[in-house]
Amino acid sequence: MVNIKDNFLQSIGNTPLIKLKAASEITGCNIYGKAEYLNPGGSVKDRAALALIKDAEEKKLISKGGMIVEGTAGNTGIGLCLLGNSLGYKTTIVMNDNQTQEKKDTLINIGADLRLVPPKPYSDDGNYVKVAGRLAEELKNSNNYGVVWANQFDNTANAKGHYETTGPEIWDQTEGKVDGFVCASGTGGTIGGISSFLKEKNKDVKIYLSDPAGSALYNFIENGELKSEGGSITEGIGSSRVTANFAEAKIDGAFSIDDHESLPLLYNLIKEEGLSLGTSCGVNIAGAIRLGKLIGPGKTIVTILCDKSDKYNSKMFNKKFLQEKGLPTPSWI
Ligand code: PMP
Repeated sequence: MVNIKDNFLQSIGNTPLIKLKAASEITGCNIYGKAEYLNPGGSVKDRAALALIKDAEEKKLISKGGMIVEGTAGNTGIGLCLLGNSLGYKTTIVMNDNQTQEKKDTLINIGADLRLVPPKPYSDDGNYVKVAGRLAEELKNSNNYGVVWANQFDNTANAKGHYETTGPEIWDQTEGKVDGFVCASGTGGTIGGISSFLKEKNKDVKIYLSDPAGSALYNFIENGELKSEGGSITEGIGSSRVTANFAEAKIDGAFSIDDHESLPLLYNLIKEEGLSLGTSCGVNIAGAIRLGKLIGPGKTIVTILCDKSDKYNSKMFNKKFLQEKGLPTPSWI
């Protein structure tokens, strides 16, 4: 019997690398996407969910019947809820109300207690991350088995999870021949953990942040100043601040990617390569192409395929929505 997993937890990680044909051809590099959408909850954030729950268990903050509370763009919530269901934990999720209906529906349908809040900057007490932290405190007295705020942005167990799993997987899968790694940052867990591992293995591996327009991190990396310009329809990535997980990242440079650059890449991948990927993947792949042009040809570059397009149908394939924003549309819709 080959490749049999005992449970949800064991089926997280060990995702394949998929060669991205057009991106590789444009740059003369081998550009690979790590197919994180194949995780059981459907995104890279299953890894963070596992790392954060393991951390809470190791610290004896939670036992069966306990509750996990988290502020999330959706994917971490889905991972925490499904993993929580499999381990006997309840999940309460705080999310901005401007995230796609698909993610809200998924969270409700898998049994999360979903609390929607209006989007507020991090400096505001009503910011979803701060609401989640306070809610966890308030709920502590209501549950004898432990109520834990997962705190994916500033609990570095998140980056540690990627340092221990995703980083080594990329190193092994490329047989140590990886020349560049590029991805966007939401919490910074992915880029924090992977960059730390790869730089430890080979300090010459180039690590680049691919930052969506509207995020302040591009300017922070390039000019040392947290400053944002423009905006993006992507979800789950970009930041106005340096989180504890992002602070761990070993970064050589950054690219700022707008939706005009990333969306056509996603539509072409569907049409030409059969890969139907979520909005943050467009930013990641655009970044991989930019890095390929910078350090290539002949280099091996890896990026992350975070989730699939099905969570963004109401944005990515909504002609009216896209046209109102002056954005490219898929030719077949
Ligand atoms: N892409 C998607 C779709 C996400 O949900 C997230 C997490 N919010 C990211 C990318 C960014 O990953 P990280 O939080 O590890 O920086």
